[in-house]
Amino acid sequence: MSVSTPKPDATGPVSGDIDVAIVGAGAAGIAAGRRLVDRGCSVLLLEALPRLGGRAHTVQLLDLPFDYGCGWLHSAERNPLVALAEAQGRTLDRSEGAWRRQLHDIDFPERDQRAAWTAYARLGERLRHAPPPSDRAGDAVARNDPWRPFLDGISSFMNGVELDQLSVRDFLAYDDAASENNWRLPAGYGAFLGDLGAGLPVALDTRVTSIAHGDGVTVETDRGTIRARAAIVTVSSNVLARGDIRFSPPLDDHLHAAARLPLGLDNKVFLALSEPDAVPPESHLLGQLDRAGTGSYYLRPFGRPVIEAFLGGALARELEAAGEAATFDFVREELRELLGARFVQSLTPLAVTRWGAEPTILGSYSHAEPGHADARAVLARPPSGRLCFAGEACSAHDYSTAHGAWQSGLDAADWIAASLPGVAP
Ligand SMILES: Cc1cc2nc3c(=O)[nH]c(=O)nc-3n(C[C@H](O)[C@H](O)[C@H](O)COP(=O)(O)OP(=O)(O)OC[C@H]3O[C@@H](n4cnc5c(N)ncnc54)[C@H](O)[C@@H]3O)c2cc1C
Repeated sequence: MSVSTPKPDATGPVSGDIDVAIVGAGAAGIAAGRRLVDRGCSVLLLEALPRLGGRAHTVQLLDLPFDYGCGWLHSAERNPLVALAEAQGRTLDRSEGAWRRQLHDIDFPERDQRAAWTAYARLGERLRHAPPPSDRAGDAVARNDPWRPFLDGISSFMNGVELDQLSVRDFLAYDDAASENNWRLPAGYGAFLGDLGAGLPVALDTRVTSIAHGDGVTVETDRGTIRARAAIVTVSSNVLARGDIRFSPPLDDHLHAAARLPLGLDNKVFLALSEPDAVPPESHLLGQLDRAGTGSYYLRPFGRPVIEAFLGGALARELEAAGEAATFDFVREELRELLGARFVQSLTPLAVTRWGAEPTILGSYSHAEPGHADARAVLARPPSGRLCFAGEACSAHDYSTAHGAWQSGLDAADWIAASLPGVAP
């Protein structure tokens, strides 16, 4: 076991010898840290941002907690984070989300809603029973199918990209394992994960630049050098593929795999309602039926006086590049068409996320490119007994989620612990 534990602080240099250096303090890094500390290892989480959580990030808007990133405990009945939230005494909202309902059938008659969701179910059947040889989900539905824009739009919310960029095999690996039980944490998913990480040794504002690995590892950061017996790297696939961290010896197979698992983009837009009773709590509107580039509007989540809008895929990229004002304009215009000019006058812009521009994350969640579903297994395979990767992109069935990231962190910690002499099994 190692001899000294570095004492990170907000500004000073980091240095020292530890058992395991963990790069990134999102869900995967926090899970790995907790597991290794439980096994008696000394760890240090090295995190480029000034906060814990990564893509799990709760902020206060109107003095209420809202999640910029993950908000839903998907597949809740088997989600390992549910038991931890219950153990913390956190309130869980188990009600069904309003996603598939269109408030008052506005601009989306009930007959069309049924037809649209039938087209979605038919696409699922085709992907399962007659998948296109290209493995490209977009090849399973005709380009002139009247529901194609709707299906691309749903894909952009779920996967961060439209169907043409999606591997069928990868999509089914997730979809076959997922359930319809999606719960929420009214006090915030990011706040919850942050609490799970509280007490772990963490160096915030610390960017890892290179990792030399052999019998042990040497981790260079912009605030000093850490020597460790092993390391777990949890940065996003886009950060890995961009080459932010230099590995020596090089890990080309892993970095190429990361490049085949790019992050799609989903952003959220929050608006305050000065006349909240104008719309019912926990209701929903889809912006447009006939174009993929449209918003999905969750009205008054938990009854709060707020609209939480979702923008996905190409539209999210376009609006992120166009800026905050253009994003609010787009959302206001879609809501004006749905709910009228008077309603829109009662809205005040609160916040817009820009996950693609977040320099140490670079997107929202991963998908496999067509033909590259196997890349997840390549990335998750430890290159040595002293170094391995974790994070949502490493999960075979729960990629793109916080609980998938969490489980990958636990798995990586178990792998590393098993390969370090002297660590309890
Ligand atoms: C808008 C949005 C909505 C989402 N909704 C849901 C949802 O409802 N349910 C759900 O389960 N999931 C959801 N997700 C996905 C979920 O948030 C992620 O899958 C999960 O949080 C990823 O965790 P991670 O540990 O793999 O990666 P991250 O959270 O990205 O953690 C990696 C960390 O590494 C740090 N880092 C990067 N480079 C370096 C470096 N060089 N040195 C040091 N540190 C570095 C980063 O700053 C980051 O904090 C959503 C995501 C977004 C963006």
